[in-house]
Amino acid sequence: MTHVTTPAPAGMSSRRARFWTNNKSTLIGCGVLVALMIVVPFTANSSVMNIVVFAMIFALPAIGLNLLMGLAGQVSLGQAAFFAIGAYTHAIMLTKLDLPGPVAATIGVLAAMLVALLVGLPLMRLRGHYLALATLGLGFIVMIGVREWDVTGRTTGIYGISRPSVFGIPIDNSGFFLWFVTPFVVIGLILALNLTRSRAGRALSAVNDSELAAESLGVNTYALRLKVFVLSAGFAGLGGVFYAYQVAIVSPTTAEFHLSVSILLMVVIGGLGSVWGAVAGAFLVQFLGEGMRDVIPAIFPGASGEVQLLGYGIVLILVILLLPGGLHQAATTLWRKLPLAGKRPPGDAHAHSAAEDTTIPQLPAVSTPVAAGEPILVISGLTKRYGGVVAVDDVSLTVPAGSILGLIGPNGAGKTTCFNMISGALTPSKGTVTFLGQVISGRKPHVAAAHGLTRTFQNLQVFTSTDVVGNVYMGRYRKGRAGVLRGMLGLQSGEQSAHHAAAYEILQSMRLTDAADDSASDLSFGKQRIMEVCRALAAEPALLLLDEPMAGLSSTEREVMAELLRRLRAAGLTIVLVEHDVAQVMSLADQVAVLDDGVLIAHGDPDSVRNDPAVVVAYLGTDLDEAEAELTELEEHA
Ligand code: ATP
Repeated sequence: MTHVTTPAPAGMSSRRARFWTNNKSTLIGCGVLVALMIVVPFTANSSVMNIVVFAMIFALPAIGLNLLMGLAGQVSLGQAAFFAIGAYTHAIMLTKLDLPGPVAATIGVLAAMLVALLVGLPLMRLRGHYLALATLGLGFIVMIGVREWDVTGRTTGIYGISRPSVFGIPIDNSGFFLWFVTPFVVIGLILALNLTRSRAGRALSAVNDSELAAESLGVNTYALRLKVFVLSAGFAGLGGVFYAYQVAIVSPTTAEFHLSVSILLMVVIGGLGSVWGAVAGAFLVQFLGEGMRDVIPAIFPGASGEVQLLGYGIVLILVILLLPGGLHQAATTLWRKLPLAGKRPPGDAHAHSAAEDTTIPQLPAVSTPVAAGEPILVISGLTKRYGGVVAVDDVSLTVPAGSILGLIGPNGAGKTTCFNMISGALTPSKGTVTFLGQVISGRKPHVAAAHGLTRTFQNLQVFTSTDVVGNVYMGRYRKGRAGVLRGMLGLQSGEQSAHHAAAYEILQSMRLTDAADDSASDLSFGKQRIMEVCRALAAEPALLLLDEPMAGLSSTEREVMAELLRRLRAAGLTIVLVEHDVAQVMSLADQVAVLDDGVLIAHGDPDSVRNDPAVVVAYLGTDLDEAEAELTELEEHA
């Protein structure tokens, strides 16, 4: 995410200026693409024309696959299946049912999306290579299905698809056809680019970085992935519709694995995560394919399409080895080296730091549906078993609103397991978690987040694909409304700027504004931890679970963190704190609960817990004398 802005041309109203600033690269890029497509029919020979038309057609499934793979991190090897479903359905509607072109095309796209929805419902629960294998299987099913089914014309396919007419003008040559396809590709591009910058797009990237963290901020990862899978199939289906028009015949070759590999190659060559890269990749692969068609038979006389597939494989390996970020990475590196490239104005990164001071500002009151002191979280008989290991054993606790509960215990006592069950990351073997009167145990973390419960992690879960403010911005997810559709249509800019401002404010309270525009992965461990706390706070939770927030912090940072926690409590926030720094917990917490070997051995105010013999023995050592010495030391720290 970047906040570098270029001034808009003079004379523009502020709204138009903002539109220009936000969409400048998209508008320039689309303008160049349209200009090229207007010129190509007048300048290119028929062979180049053919390549360009197919590149534009295949740019559609490539954009769709790029959204799925680059944004949502879902590997699919079945894009040809949706391409074929679009092409065949369109062809059947045109030739067998005699439907008008736009109706047949719409049904083609919807059919691809419907099949994606039906197969996506179970498939989107799979991850990584399992999903890749399942989509590969889907590709084979469609390929065999169209070969064996009478309706799809078996091995001969469907003939006689006539080109459409626009305003009575028949699209009967390649030049006209290119102009016919171009607006659809440009619209697809704009929708996809909008999506990548939208609330939903950022959530998808976050899911890709850390599903657990995204879920904990309220992202329903399953539903979001499913939507992008269906959307991606829609792009492929539209490509299939144009393909059917262009070749006038739909045969089983449209569903072949070879085609899925080609589309995958377009996305990888273009650069995963770059919508423009997918379009560039489509052009490169088409030109490459044409080149291979000439070169390979010259090297291997009599070589067939299988050898061409081998050529694709070699190119794929070379790209992954030499240019893992694809054309997008190459273009970005080149652009940065050019003197023309917009550089960040001096001081811009620190624009927000001027207002910083060394104290934490007063925080606005947290609105909690229950009065201070009333139970906000009730844990009852919570148990987690892993085979013979009982990580948490029948723990019951009540946390009053507006207080800090410190959860301590030696290593392996079950603290994180408890946190995971409260936040929904783990399903309890037994027992319930009731938050604000709702039983949330066994539900997904996004359900707990929706009720106002957010957490941080002992093992940091940073969204590495974005910058620091981008991470905190993700904390605002549940405060936003715009879904995939509104994101694609770009109807959420007001919402986004408000959330950005809120994210900066939170960073300011933790003195992180200097690093706001830095890549999150470049931060020190301690700063990443503070950033996670900021991210959780951005969600404006009623209950905050902090898993070792002081670990890795410098002594000054610890002081700032402790002060922040006090201020948050004063503002009405309820906090459950797991922390190894016992002295800090004792000084901060209203109540302390001690776990040992999964069992709750003590619960009460810090003084009574500090002097509880069971805690002294279990927590500080088996030797009582040694334990008492440690205890005295602790008291001195407190
Ligand atoms: P630490 O302070 O070291 O982080 P903790 O109090 O958070 O420890 P947990 O991580 O909750 O402890 O672990 C509690 C117990 O459960 C440990 O004995 C651990 O080995 C066990 N445990 C945790 N997760 C699993 C798992 N997935 N499978 C088997 N045992 C597990």
